[in-house]
Amino acid sequence: MKDLERYRKAIRAKVCNRCIDQGEDGCCSLSGDQRCGVELYLEKIVDVVHSVRSKKLKDYVEQLRKHVCSDCKNQNPDGTCQLRSEADCGLDRYFALVVEAIEEEDQKTK
Ligand code: SF4
Ligand code: SF4
Repeated sequence: MKDLERYRKAIRAKVCNRCIDQGEDGCCSLSGDQRCGVELYLEKIVDVVHSVRSKKLKDYVEQLRKHVCSDCKNQNPDGTCQLRSEADCGLDRYFALVVEAIEEEDQKTK
């Protein structure tokens, strides 16, 4: 069974702590329409990471686009995303670290 809170905690420690959008109180400063994909799509992100075994980030990104970005309201029908192209999506900007955080968490329970 997936323990999403465990992954959330690991991502907050590894990713959000370095993120430019983390508030001074340690919480994400984005809310409403700007809420980060890390918060909105955590379950799907964990599934994506678990579905890939590769040393290449591009293999993970491919699945992220297919299973998460495809359902995100910010992605246009042609597959482009303005937030992504302007490096304004925290999930996309730090995706390598997100993958690391989830895989490190999995290693702990092996
Ligand atoms: S924007 Fe995303 S990565 Fe950055 S602090 Fe908020 S939830 Fe974390
Ligand atoms: S890159 Fe764009 S489409 Fe993908 S999660 Fe971020 S905002 Fe949504």
